[in-house]
Parts: sequence; structure tokens; C-alpha cells
Amino acid sequence: MKEIRMVDLKTQYEKIKTDIDTAIGEVIGSTAFIKGPQVKAFENELASYLNIKNVIGCGNGTDALQVSLMALGLQPGDEVITPDFTFIATIEVIALLGLVPKLVDVDKDTFNIHPDNIKKAITKKTRAIMPVHLFGQCSNMDEILAIAREHNLYVIEDTAQATGAVYHGNSGTNYKAGTMGHVGCTSFFPSKNLGCYGDGGAIFTNNDELAEKIRILINHGMKVRYYHDIIGVNSRLDTFQAAILKVKLAHLDEYNKARKAAADYYDKAFAHCGKIIIPARTGFSDHIFHQYTLRLKNTDRAKMQEYLSSKGIPTMIYYPVPLHRQKAFSYLGLKEDDFPVTVELCETVLSLPIHTELDQEQLEYITSHVIKFAEI
Ligand SMILES: *Cc1c(COP(=O)(O)O)cnc(C)c1O
Repeated sequence: MKEIRMVDLKTQYEKIKTDIDTAIGEVIGSTAFIKGPQVKAFENELASYLNIKNVIGCGNGTDALQVSLMALGLQPGDEVITPDFTFIATIEVIALLGLVPKLVDVDKDTFNIHPDNIKKAITKKTRAIMPVHLFGQCSNMDEILAIAREHNLYVIEDTAQATGAVYHGNSGTNYKAGTMGHVGCTSFFPSKNLGCYGDGGAIFTNNDELAEKIRILINHGMKVRYYHDIIGVNSRLDTFQAAILKVKLAHLDEYNKARKAAADYYDKAFAHCGKIIIPARTGFSDHIFHQYTLRLKNTDRAKMQEYLSSKGIPTMIYYPVPLHRQKAFSYLGLKEDDFPVTVELCETVLSLPIHTELDQEQLEYITSHVIKFAEI
């Protein structure tokens, strides 16, 4: 059996090696390392894949989130609502800009921000909501957009883990994750569903004026070289990464399908195991399984990880510490009691290997050992 990894980028690369190597060779040959033609070409192809008017590449997903907040003109003291159970990036950029992160608890089944908790967190100072489409499944965007409309708030989607997921809107229209709010932000970190070979990110919007401002912001606030109209940052998508992403975008649907197939195998295998709760799937969104995350009941998680590790099966805990408990954010004075779901999830979730290259033999091996331990 092939070695089991959380993510297997090596085998994936070997299957597209010729195209990737050619694409990289072309960038070197042209020496257009910054803002080369591959950047625009990839942005256009991703825009057409997502069915959105503007895609602006940038340095990474965290910058995408930061630049979006800057482009929307949020001012110090403005409040931004975002979930407690996620990666640090969203609250980090909110705080860096002098805005106030208002963390709210999530839905225990989907792990995504709970619309009822958003409503409760709204004050006169609230200006934006940043839902995170965690683990590859969209948040309840119909409800979130309705709340935003009612209170005149911006919606910035963090779709770093859900690029390519399809959301089925109440209106009957389908949307790609990241194209429903005012702005969508993604990451091309190597392990993401659409990942490059280093850092990369992108911002999506249907608003042309906002897109123009974002383009200026990511390039030192300049439209005409050496004339700086606004204070910006240096966060461009690297030409090498764009060339690699252009090759990989053509495989994205097939990659997401492979992840779903592995998840289906897991779901079926664990369906009758009383100690395991399989990840919920909503009717309104596709799940493209950036992570396959179980909840364990009455099981010693650390011991299970140790057992699986001894059998050559890596596992991870996404995420072990709720954001409200992170030392860097202790100044917010958040109360433990406000986040019962996140606290419970941090104690009980376990993510299994999921990627595009898992084969039947590996899946059978992983599931049989998980069940064996759970049923001891
Ligand atoms: C990966 C990730 C980010 C940050 O992306 P980087 O490219 O690593 O900066 C932001 N939000 C979520 C939910 C992520 O998973």
C-alpha cells in the first residue's frame, strides 16, 4: 500500500508533470516574473469558471481578506462579524486594520457560522459579515445575505476552503462559492482544493469599481507607476503560481469529485458506528471536502490519534483552540459561555486524510482501523 498522507501533492503532480513543467519553463523563458501574462490569463479563466466579472490575484488568502476590507472602506472601530471556529486569518486582518472582530458561535452540524447568532451580534457599529465556508461547504448564504440586506452590511466570503463548491440558492439559481457576497476571497495555499506551489490568493467581485480599487490596493496604491493615490500593499499573485494554477484549474472539478468520492466511502463505512458522527451535508450547498472532519462521541481522541498513527494513518485536529481563547485576542475579553458549540467541536473533532489521490486500499485500511478503535 502507498504511504498514507493527509494530503498527497506528490502523486497529484506526477499525473500533470508535463503540463506543469512546461508552464514553469515558459515563465522562466519569458522572465516576466512579476505581472506576467499568465496572471491575467489565469484570472480570466477563473472568472469564467466562477461566473463572476472580476478575479484579482494576490499574494495569499490572508491578504485577499485584508485588501477586501480596505477596499470596502471600513474604518477603525467598525465591527465585523465572523465565526469563532475557523482558521485565524479572518479575525487577524480585522484586528490589524483597527476594526473590531465580533466572534459568533457556529452550527454544530455544519461547523459554519450560525445565522441566528449573526443576528444577535449586530449593533449600530456593525458594518460587515465575513462567513467562512469551512471544510468545503458553503455557509447558509440565503439567510446571511438577507440579514446583510436588512441591516445594510457588506458580506465578504472566505472561500479559502471551498473553491469550486456550488451553492444552490433559494431562487433556484446556482452560484459558485465566493461569488454571492460583495467580495469573495480565496487562498491557493498548496493543500487547498485549488492549490499552487507556494503562496497565492485571489479576490472575486461583480462590482467593477471595487475591482479597480482592489487592483490598485494590491500594487502599492498605484494605477500609474510611481503615482500613489491611496495607501496600498504589495500583494501580487506570482507569475509562476498563476501558470501552475492555470494548469490545475482545468482539473479542479475532477479533483473535487475525487475528494467527494473518498468522503462518500468514509460516510458509508462509518454510518453504523455509534461513536462517530459523520460530517453533515446541507441541501443548499455542495460539499467538496477540503477536510473530512468527524465528531467523536465518548471516545478518547488523543488515544485514537495515537493508535491510528501507530498504524501509519495521520490525522489532524482542525481546530484545537477556539479563536476566542487565542492569546493574541485576549484583549477582546470574550466570554467562554458565548461559544458552547465551538468549545465542544474543538474537543471532539478529528480530520482524516482527504485528497485527490486516495485509493480503495487506503480507504479500506483507514476506515477499518478507525472503526476498530472506536469499537474497543
Ligand atoms: C487557508 C485559509 C486562509 C488563509 O490563506 P493563506 O493563503 O494561507 O493566507 C484563510 N481562511 C481560511 C478559512 C483558510 O483555510
